[in-house]
Amino acid sequence: MNKLKLYACPECGLYYKEKELAKKCEAWCKEHNSCNLEITKYSINKKAL
Ligand SMILES: [Zn+2]
Repeated sequence: MNKLKLYACPECGLYYKEKELAKKCEAWCKEHNSCNLEITKYSINKKAL
């Protein structure tokens, strides 16, 4: 079993290793209705896991 914990942004559905990043992404997505590249560059491509 892979125990890696991922946190998803409920707004855009991207996954992050850090809860903080998911929170940041969620806050940004809600406010700006788009994604912040500075945040999404840390997102995880689930298919690549
Ligand atoms: Zn997001």
